[in-house]
Amino acid sequence: MSSEYKQCKRCVMDTTSINISFDSEGNCNYCSHFLREAEKGIFRDKIFRYNIFKKDIEEIKRKGKNKKYDCIIGVSGGIDSSYMVLLAKDYGLKPLLVHFDNGWDDELAVQNINKLVKYSGFDLYTYVINWEGFKDMQKSYFKAGVIDLEVPTDMFIFGALFEIAKKHQIKYMISGNNQWTESILPRDWIYSRKFDFVNMQNIYKKFGNGILKNIPHLSINRRLLNSLLGYKSITIFENLEFNNKEIKKRLIDEIGYSIYPCKHFESIFTRFYQGYYLRKKFNVDKRKAHLSNLIMINQLTRDEALEELKNEPYEIDRQERDKEYVAKKWDYTIDEFNEIMNQPSVSHKFYGEGDEKASWYLRLLKYFQLVYLYKFAYPLGLDKPEIR
Ligand SMILES: [Zn+2]
Repeated sequence: MSSEYKQCKRCVMDTTSINISFDSEGNCNYCSHFLREAEKGIFRDKIFRYNIFKKDIEEIKRKGKNKKYDCIIGVSGGIDSSYMVLLAKDYGLKPLLVHFDNGWDDELAVQNINKLVKYSGFDLYTYVINWEGFKDMQKSYFKAGVIDLEVPTDMFIFGALFEIAKKHQIKYMISGNNQWTESILPRDWIYSRKFDFVNMQNIYKKFGNGILKNIPHLSINRRLLNSLLGYKSITIFENLEFNNKEIKKRLIDEIGYSIYPCKHFESIFTRFYQGYYLRKKFNVDKRKAHLSNLIMINQLTRDEALEELKNEPYEIDRQERDKEYVAKKWDYTIDEFNEIMNQPSVSHKFYGEGDEKASWYLRLLKYFQLVYLYKFAYPLGLDKPEIR
């Protein structure tokens, strides 16, 4: 394989992703994969998708009829989750909004969430993690030299959401994940086994000081158990039309929302991590993936994306200020921070990984559940099978 720099002819992904490959026309595996997936997802017939959307909404309403809440929506203050709240209001759902406060909220994010709550009238529950413990975990990932410093946040958010869902007996979680804006993402730019609790424990044991007990996490067994108990994550967003500019306009006009310069910039840590750390330490610029996604759904031209990539993700002096802020919040001097940052990178796998399969008895139970549903329950009209 040549190490020469090459960029896709159709999107803006390039050889900074080591897993990239190109076809004879110079198109990359990421946008080709996107097209194949979109044919089965967001590029399907508009009416067909809308019917699935309506069916999902009806199911959530029917199952939550006599309850205070019929679903949970995790809100970060970012565009995708804020839009979910607008949709929930549009279609008459009764969500409990949950915000995971990991100590890194941007002031703008807090304001946006408050505006969202005021506009929607929905209840908000803020899950505040024990900062000292969470800090210790984040620093462990930093010291480990691995690429994905967002694993703790991602793991804790979903763990916390399920804890709250169980406490309130809310079976549906509306997720902002979607093919429209976040389908393209190279596996070498993240740790794809986000819920590998063994890997997390190993990293924490080696680099942490052990003050973090009770980690809200979702192991593979817990996830399968949740599904057996009927907890479902639904991505309603994908089955509606998507217009990036219109969504932003609605958020601004209707709730007075403030727009961030880049996706996922509602957290100071994420902003610094994506806008500085990943670029400097790993030569990874996640904007390439986000912009490529928008190109593939025809909401941005390739030239516009290339133009945007010439700029810094955000102002350089603000990057420096964020760096000082992160170092200070982690109890490092800038020199100590730089020293750790400049150490060689290490793969997540190096620290050992857990089994990706759930226990055999849970898998067997899931099998019987599916047989029961498809053989008996659905034919009797007890519930409708999922189309997905
Ligand atoms: Zn491409």
